[in-house]
Amino acid sequence: MFNIVIFGPPGAGKGTQSFRIATRYQLKHISTGEILREEIRKGSNLGVSAAQYMERGELVPDEMLIEILRRLIEENRYINGFVFDGYPRTLIQAEVLDEVMVKEGICINLVLSLEVNEEELVARLSKRAEDQFRSDDRPEVIHQRLITYHKQTAPLLDYFKKQGKLVSVMGIGSIDDISEKLYNEIDTAYP
Ligand code: AMP
Repeated sequence: MFNIVIFGPPGAGKGTQSFRIATRYQLKHISTGEILREEIRKGSNLGVSAAQYMERGELVPDEMLIEILRRLIEENRYINGFVFDGYPRTLIQAEVLDEVMVKEGICINLVLSLEVNEEELVARLSKRAEDQFRSDDRPEVIHQRLITYHKQTAPLLDYFKKQGKLVSVMGIGSIDDISEKLYNEIDTAYP
């Protein structure tokens, strides 16, 4: 198995690039944001409680995410690997991911961090608000999501760096060019 984390702030292009990587390398794409939005659409208990946090631009509590993650890893034992998109977002989530993976005899092999400046992130998220309706792409929520990222998620860069798994890639330019850079890093790490 080859497991990748696509890391970056909201608007960095994690979803787009994760989808492309998953297709190219036949990996399972796990977007925790998508999973939560699906729960909201279904009107499940999980969806109802997650929505309150998501609409405010805050993180959904770790326990809820950890539960989803454990189930997904256990249910997908016989695949080529995972592309994690939007998980982990806190140190606890990262530690649990490592712990669950070790139990399964696997690990995160590579963390690709998409680097995009703040101005570009805000522009992209505001544009997305016009193109596809996402209730958390409103200006005040965008601002809060970026604050949440800096406070709770960005510190994970250090965690991955210490593990020697972190590779940063400039996330600005054409979608194809960024994908090429990511593919190169994957091919280097996993020839
Ligand atoms: P995303 O689609 O990845 O931008 O996620 C949308 C929202 O879902 C985030 O702003 C969070 O409120 C919530 N969310 C997604 N993934 C996680 C996670 N790993 N931990 C906590 N909250 C999450």
